[in-house]
Amino acid sequence: MTTKIINIDLAHLENSENDIKYAAEVIRSGGLVAFPTETVYGLGGDGTNPHAARAIYAAKGRPSDNPLIIHIADPHDAEAYTYTSDVYYKLAERFMPGPLTVVLKAKDSVPMETRGGLSTVAVRCPSHPVANRLIALSGRPIAAPSANLSGSPSPTAASHVIDDMQGRIDVIINGGDCEIGLESTIVKLEDDGALTLLRPGRITVDELACIAPVAIADAVTDRLAEGAVALSPGMKYRHYAPESPLVLLDGEVESVIDYINAEKLHNAAIICYTEQESIIKVAIPTAHIFVLGASDDISEQAKKLFAILREADKHNFSKIYAPLPSREGVGLALYNRMIRAAAHTVINLRQDNNG
Ligand code: AMP
Ligand code: MG
Repeated sequence: MTTKIINIDLAHLENSENDIKYAAEVIRSGGLVAFPTETVYGLGGDGTNPHAARAIYAAKGRPSDNPLIIHIADPHDAEAYTYTSDVYYKLAERFMPGPLTVVLKAKDSVPMETRGGLSTVAVRCPSHPVANRLIALSGRPIAAPSANLSGSPSPTAASHVIDDMQGRIDVIINGGDCEIGLESTIVKLEDDGALTLLRPGRITVDELACIAPVAIADAVTDRLAEGAVALSPGMKYRHYAPESPLVLLDGEVESVIDYINAEKLHNAAIICYTEQESIIKVAIPTAHIFVLGASDDISEQAKKLFAILREADKHNFSKIYAPLPSREGVGLALYNRMIRAAAHTVINLRQDNNG
């Protein structure tokens, strides 16, 4: 299949109206379109069309019991596909459009293929102007997982989508780099009005707790126990893991340097904070260094993480070392992605380590 690439100048979006109309027509006729959102690029198909859902799973190589999020142009559009509630509208008023996905009881208008056989469906109303226009012009809810091959990091630039999806889907819309760079926060809205955090993202637990009580699913921070039932099917799959082993080091830069030097590895890579770069370069001159961003700028780190992991995968590093993120605020999202990429391999280099 030939993939059409549409380049969009966000500063003059009105010039791209015909291109977006074309892409919306592809969605309406059952085809697949990758498009930018404020979180990561999505791989979209008609959320009411079971064939489109199957095509999405096939293009990604994704297990078909891992449900898709449906994207809507207006929070009220959820009425056609889900049973909403007061708490849903409180969340919508505060966080939509934006990087929040809410899991609700599904109506029959959403095919089983789209929701991976579950009785619930996840909805999100993205704030990215291209995503919003595409959904509105298609007149359909757009089912869209991240536009990467299953098992590789989510795409935060059109070049990542092209690397993974060219020749597998109809259209790729290039709208530049994604502003947030990590996937949306996902909460399940429980029958009693409480929230369960299934996936952390830019919208934090503290922000959500202003609307309703929040419980954090164990799998957000911990390894899912053998045989445990995942609240979110995606939690049970091996998520992105780099080709080279990723090890998270919890400690000050001096102990990190001592640890890495003691391992005496050739061809290792180190992901570090901006202010650590020069000292690590001097102390470990043979290592390949990737700079994640300033240590206190979690937004910058979030925006860069997946691009760095993709770049690292192009080299055959013996090991990749990275700092263990804090779990505070948006840090929890970064922590969740990195701990999964590292298959929970964390080395404690702190003095107060008792074992
Ligand atoms: P992605 O589409 O790649 O952003 O991943 C979407 C995530 O949302 C996956 O981890 C899914 O398992 C999760 N998800 C989608 N729909 C539901 C649902 N109805 N209930 C729980 N988790 C869901
Ligand atoms: Mg994904």
